[in-house]
Amino acid sequence: MTILLKGGDLVDPLKGVIAKQDVIIEGQRILKILPFGVFSETGPQISIIDISGKLIIPGMIDMHVHLREPGQEYKETIATGSLAGVAGGFTALACMPNTDPVNDNVSVTEFILRQASKAGNLKVYPIASITKGRKGDTLTEFGDLKKAGAVGVSDDGSPVVNSEVMRRAIEYARYHNLTVISHCEDLSLSAEGVMHEGSISTKIGLRGIPSASEEIMVQREISLARLTGCPVHIAHVSTAESISAIRRAKEDGVPVTAETAPHYFTLDHTALIGYNTNFKMNPPLRTPEDVLAVKKGLSNDVIDVIATDHAPHSRLEKDLEFDKAAFGIIGLETALPLTLSLVREGVLTMQSAIKKLTHAPAAILGINSGILREGAIADLAVIDPGCEYTLKEGDILSKSKNSPFIGKTLIGKNTLTIVEGRIVWTGDSTRTCS
Ligand SMILES: [Zn+2]
Repeated sequence: MTILLKGGDLVDPLKGVIAKQDVIIEGQRILKILPFGVFSETGPQISIIDISGKLIIPGMIDMHVHLREPGQEYKETIATGSLAGVAGGFTALACMPNTDPVNDNVSVTEFILRQASKAGNLKVYPIASITKGRKGDTLTEFGDLKKAGAVGVSDDGSPVVNSEVMRRAIEYARYHNLTVISHCEDLSLSAEGVMHEGSISTKIGLRGIPSASEEIMVQREISLARLTGCPVHIAHVSTAESISAIRRAKEDGVPVTAETAPHYFTLDHTALIGYNTNFKMNPPLRTPEDVLAVKKGLSNDVIDVIATDHAPHSRLEKDLEFDKAAFGIIGLETALPLTLSLVREGVLTMQSAIKKLTHAPAAILGINSGILREGAIADLAVIDPGCEYTLKEGDILSKSKNSPFIGKTLIGKNTLTIVEGRIVWTGDSTRTCS
């Protein structure tokens, strides 16, 4: 079977160009990319899909997702999370190891890969834990985990407190070609905090998490990357000072990369005034000045990647007093429109926005993906950047509905997802543009 995607504009995040081109897919691969209209063959073996007015992009790759399986299947499963992913335009997700049991051994890594292949939606790349049980003491078997299919290591959800353990992890990971992803938090400072420490936390009487809690650990990871010469990737950057530190480190040639999540460039701590627990996440929403710094960090490429930190929680864990509610929000189905808002604002070009969702995370994880070219595996999405709609809870495919964007107007929607030449998502009638 041959698929012809006809009439769309192809976004090439590597070359930085957008051009009207037709894409012909045969089997698992992109057979041809031709100027619009050049390919005119027809026949029963060719399925022609008219995508006029839409953009073809490489499939999006989310390098920071919590799929909750094994152990917390009431929040999300690999099947439901990967379905939400393909709906959102993703063709690959990297899933964090804070499952139950923790992904600190080969049997859990293999289990995740089996469940992903059973679900058959998209590619799942397991991130194994840095330390056994994510307890911060003993390194896991990086070589075995890599062989089993892990692409990176992280104790995400918690920092690796012991600097010597982190140093060894960074060195050992480079030896095994694994990406180290650091959750930067000084637990002694964040302590019992539930939101950003600042004017709003004082006003509404909630315990604060100072920006320094993140920044101290960002500084430490930069120092360790400088010391060892080995790369470190900083997860979910949220503060202006973290971004300045990463910018300076990059200027010095320190091998550090960084990601942020859409909520850190969309929302700030004033959102907490209503005590809505769907605005509670870790790191917390910061100040409007931090939001500006995140945007600037994206536009000048200090921040390489946009990742969701998709963190599903059931109602039981969110419908609680603010202090007791769980941290985190879902993000797979809103990442694209929220990122496209940066393009409309002029913060990012379309090409660089798409790069931060595709080729940049692929490069950091060492995955040969995130580009569209002849001969490459056909992992791609077709998006309608102008589609305006209201996000309804009933439309969310993730098992959990903890999104602060329910009821909000979003612009930009994925309409078709292809993984290895297979159509895995074609939108649905309930998700129409207004
Ligand atoms: Zn984290």
